[in-house]
Amino acid sequence: MFWNDSQIVSFFTTKEGGASEGYFSSLNLGFKSGDDLNVVKQNYKLLAQKLGIPYESMTCSAQVHETNIKQVTYEDRGNGVIFPNKWDSVDGIYTMEKDITLVTHYADCVPLFFYAPKHHLIGLAHAGWRGTVNKICEKMVKIWNEKHNVAYEDIQVGIGPSIGACCFEVNADVSEPFVNTFGKADFIKFKENGKANIDLWECNERMLQNLGIYNIQIANICTCCNSDKYFSHRKTQGKRGLMGAIMYLRY
Ligand SMILES: [Zn+2]
Repeated sequence: MFWNDSQIVSFFTTKEGGASEGYFSSLNLGFKSGDDLNVVKQNYKLLAQKLGIPYESMTCSAQVHETNIKQVTYEDRGNGVIFPNKWDSVDGIYTMEKDITLVTHYADCVPLFFYAPKHHLIGLAHAGWRGTVNKICEKMVKIWNEKHNVAYEDIQVGIGPSIGACCFEVNADVSEPFVNTFGKADFIKFKENGKANIDLWECNERMLQNLGIYNIQIANICTCCNSDKYFSHRKTQGKRGLMGAIMYLRY
């Protein structure tokens, strides 16, 4: 997904190609949703096989809708899949080491893919509405800029399949934090009934553009509209598995 670059793997899974059953059918990558853990591990093996990357390299975040970001090193390789997840709160992960597969999880929330080819950095962040309004995208690129000396213009971003403005209708408990943070913005559209539709893709894109990042691709796929192919939390009222955003450095 997003990059046609033989040096990396970047991928977003769908519901298809796994071994889970019922509403987890079939490629559920979530260990905490109530699915059979051995079947979930089987799904990771199937995915690794399909992508041609080692199963042992699968390394998961620990998502809790916060904005903590962790640099992943070889000693973390296998976290959450090969051995129990050792983190409590990690919604963003990145690495500059080869042979580590970064995995973050989604069912409507926004997957953000980050790549700085010149600097050998890849990263993923989970931006639901909380991660978006709390600016996890800015946090990731600021770490790359400040800690790893990456110029903003050298960072490329992909915004993956997730709930679109078409389906993300929210009440004041969600629209208020957005207005408080961003003011009146055209990615927040209020309706006569007091509800609002928020475009999380555009909101993330604007924040990144404001920092000088212009190489941004948006998948433009709404998981709720396309729930035949993607797990959607909203469409199923929570009866769903989890998909994965995947990134891997070959060199
Ligand atoms: Zn939609």
